[in-house]
Amino acid sequence: MTKFLGAAALLFALAGCGPIEPRATRALEGEVIDVVATIGMITDAVEHVGGERVRVEGLMGPGIDPHLYKASEGDLRRLERSDVVFYGGLHLEAKMADVLERIGERRATQAVTDAIPRGALLRPAQFKGQHDPHVWFDVTLWKKAVEQVRDRLAELDPTSAEVYRANAAAYLSELQALDAYVHEQVLRVPEGRRVIITAHDAFNYFGVAYGFEVRGLQGISTAAEAGAGDVQSLARFIARNQIPAIFVESSVSSRTIEAVREAVRARGFDVEIGGSLFSDAMGNPGTPEGSYVGMVRHNVDTIVAGLRG
Ligand SMILES: [Zn+2]
Repeated sequence: MTKFLGAAALLFALAGCGPIEPRATRALEGEVIDVVATIGMITDAVEHVGGERVRVEGLMGPGIDPHLYKASEGDLRRLERSDVVFYGGLHLEAKMADVLERIGERRATQAVTDAIPRGALLRPAQFKGQHDPHVWFDVTLWKKAVEQVRDRLAELDPTSAEVYRANAAAYLSELQALDAYVHEQVLRVPEGRRVIITAHDAFNYFGVAYGFEVRGLQGISTAAEAGAGDVQSLARFIARNQIPAIFVESSVSSRTIEAVREAVRARGFDVEIGGSLFSDAMGNPGTPEGSYVGMVRHNVDTIVAGLRG
């Protein structure tokens, strides 16, 4: 396969001349279902809900930024072989939109955010009328995404519907406990200090759900570069309000946050880098942060420790 083939041409080539019958349009009863998921949090949800009925391949590993991620040729082959593709939607996988649309013509695809009522979605001014895709940091909203995975798997594989329901129920109760943990922990931060400052606006849902003001430097997508004026106005805000800590993100360069810290210092106030938050990607497999539950716990623990000073 020549590397000069674009994604569209490659998909066509892989598809051959005639349409392939999507495996997902026939019954999948008894067969292990091949799932492709985009971000790690979705991969994790599918593994929990699907259990032994599914074989899941996640496209985006630790440290990968979904806003900028482009499907590789290997990814395209994985997508072509899959029975169902789960993705975030709401323009999260912005550079994969064409690929997902084309795959959707021949394969079952599902945006996990489809089941979230539109009224529950945020539409920040800086995202130009589009919804904020970072729903996973409101654990209650993420439960809807898990339910969407459960319902789609049950639809594709009805004879195992009971298995998916039982697996999902167990995971959803874990998420319920996680939500309670976050609510309980944030109370340890003095009210006037409940401000999260990071490189990009991934934490708006966290802010609304758990009572924090959120300021990001690059906006909703990492594709936009922060300007010098943004750095200065954020530095002014931090110095004026004596915010003890700001945070770097595992999937975004720390350069901009370091610039903010320097600008705050120039104003005679010292702000700590409160640690690294997992925003759009989970931690390494096998570590606690390599799971959705562990990543959320890590974030809240890091935020609480940083802002208590
Ligand atoms: Zn993001």
